[in-house]
Amino acid sequence: MSATLQARAQALRAQVEEANYRYYVLDAPTIDDARYDALLRELIELEAKHPELRTADSPTQRVGAPAAQEFAPYEHMHPMLSLGNAFDADELRAFDERVLKLAGQPVSYVCELKIDGLAVALAYRNGGFDRGGTRGDGRVGEDVSANLRTVRSIPLRLRTQAPEQLEVRGEVYLRKGDFAALNVAREREGLAVFANPRNAAAGGLRQLDPNLTAQRKLSFFAYQLLLPEAATHAPATQWEALQALRDYGFPVNPNIRQCPTIDDVMAYCRAWEERRDGLDYEIDGVVVKVDLLSLHERLGAAARDPRWAIAYKFKPAEVRTKLLDITIGVGRTGTLNPTAVLQPVALGGVTVKSATLHNAAYIAENDIRIGDTVVVARAGDVIPRVVGPVLQERTGELVPFTMPQHCPVCGADVDHPSGEAMSRCTNAACPAQVVERVRHFASRGAMDIEGLGDVLAAQLIEWGLVRDISDIYALDAQRLAQVPRMGVRSSEKLLAVIEASKARGVARLLAGLGIRFVGEQTAQILADDFGSIDALAAADEQSLMRSDGIGPEVAGSVVLFFAQHGNRDIVERLRRAGVVMEQAKRARRNWGPLAGRTFVLTGTLAHLSRDEATRRIAAAGASVVGSVSRKTDYVVVGDEPGSKLARAQALGITLLDEAQLRALLGGESAD
Ligand code: NAD
Repeated sequence: MSATLQARAQALRAQVEEANYRYYVLDAPTIDDARYDALLRELIELEAKHPELRTADSPTQRVGAPAAQEFAPYEHMHPMLSLGNAFDADELRAFDERVLKLAGQPVSYVCELKIDGLAVALAYRNGGFDRGGTRGDGRVGEDVSANLRTVRSIPLRLRTQAPEQLEVRGEVYLRKGDFAALNVAREREGLAVFANPRNAAAGGLRQLDPNLTAQRKLSFFAYQLLLPEAATHAPATQWEALQALRDYGFPVNPNIRQCPTIDDVMAYCRAWEERRDGLDYEIDGVVVKVDLLSLHERLGAAARDPRWAIAYKFKPAEVRTKLLDITIGVGRTGTLNPTAVLQPVALGGVTVKSATLHNAAYIAENDIRIGDTVVVARAGDVIPRVVGPVLQERTGELVPFTMPQHCPVCGADVDHPSGEAMSRCTNAACPAQVVERVRHFASRGAMDIEGLGDVLAAQLIEWGLVRDISDIYALDAQRLAQVPRMGVRSSEKLLAVIEASKARGVARLLAGLGIRFVGEQTAQILADDFGSIDALAAADEQSLMRSDGIGPEVAGSVVLFFAQHGNRDIVERLRRAGVVMEQAKRARRNWGPLAGRTFVLTGTLAHLSRDEATRRIAAAGASVVGSVSRKTDYVVVGDEPGSKLARAQALGITLLDEAQLRALLGGESAD
């Protein structure tokens, strides 16, 4: 065996492992599925030809990635496998031949759409949902029961009589409309957008807080039923099993089809490859399964794939074209978004002139350079994207791309936070960000200027009345009269609210400035500890980090914000307008039975909402912070606590249940 082959196998393993980690653990892939499939396939073929190259830990021998530590483990009773792939008609035929040979009898198939989401296992006991988990590495997944309960289409009780125990497997996914809305909202909040609905669904299901999962609007299709061996009336075929799932109350995809021969299978695959764009969810292929369930057992499984099923993968719509330039747009939250300017090319029925490049890390990892011939792909509704360069066609010296150090719109410093994909403009007065900044400043959790929402903010900016948040305080009746459809009465009302907002206090003002990572709670802590905006602006990272729950990320972001001249000017103008910038320092620590104590909440409390608990703890003089550290005094543990519990236990911090918390707060008895 040559050293070159060994090195190649090693390089492929490393690339596939890295892609698996980004895809399954971070839910943020940096390479296209087609590219991933090609790498994995090359590795499989290399190992098949040279078995001595195969290692026990090769990704060809395993499914997915190990479960994350944050969740309790979910052990699968039967392994949850991946699926072998077929990329064309010949490979489908080869699958059919293998199956016929092993079965030794005629075989018919069921075809199902391959929904692009993530697989989950749902355990039912006595007709009720018991628990559920992700696939993980196929043996142990993550227990995401609380999150699964928020998925509306997963029945919590079965509709018909069922065996005492059963397991249902299926796909959790996001509809295209819900995916688009989610990305719009994330863009607005300054979060990185998801590459595709699959990653958004996976990220949604793996939230530590079920409320966040619920917000994602996840959907579900069931496709496998596992019954105990002794079960009576067990279905004999996959087709019957799908009908039984429907009867139990599960959503089953309506486009399933029985296909007596492999030619029927091919016709089904071809038809759906054409029609996939018409669905309101993404599919990336067709899953072909042997219909007779007794054959499933007989055929068994290879290392990571069952022998009774295969995934026919659709070709991504792809073309090659020239990358003419990379332009940088600045999003509403200050993110720098690189866009590829392409030589116009036809792709999937539309002319593509530009495509997303996601972020600097994506460009660097894929070594995409201006002047390259690049592969551009488009799947379903997802915006076209540059998959990578065609290296063989690279001619001459092309310079690697670097992100600008200054914002292309306003010239302020660009921040590239470590561990984050996006680069950002740090200037609150950057014209690209103003609408969002004004809306945020006026929002309820900040300065609470009722009436100043998205629409009015955009109008004020369009009419040149507001260039940054401080201009809000320069508005008067005469200026507001220029805004279309703004009546005298609403103008007066708005001005009164603006006036009142000046006294909202340091914490609200700080939250309103829109400093990255400084939300309402963090703003409250900083305001209490520092007392004034000036003290904060003068603080260095070390002194900021002395506050509860303030880590290097927050501290760095605060320092960077106040280092920008533009931001300091805004603060100055707010001061001149009469906005209150000071408060009594550490007010909350000097009084109350729990003065100076720090609490962390995890899990759901039976009688108190999070807000109510936080309010009552604060009323007793203590503070509630988001993460457990050595400085934490108490961790309040509710139902289904997150990873904070383990951390608190590791640090030996006092744990309280709800009754103990109530006793501590109000002298109520610990019942
Ligand atoms: P797979 O997606 O090829 O097939 C198995 C999965 O198909 C199941 O786990 C299930 O989630 C899904 N599925 C959807 N509909 C189904 C149905 N009706 N019946 C049965 N299963 C159904 O295999 P995989 O192991 O989940 O992952 C491989 C996929 O992930 C490939 O598409 C690969 O390209 C992608 N991937 C991409 C990257 C990347 O970096 N881009 C990294 C890892 C994996």
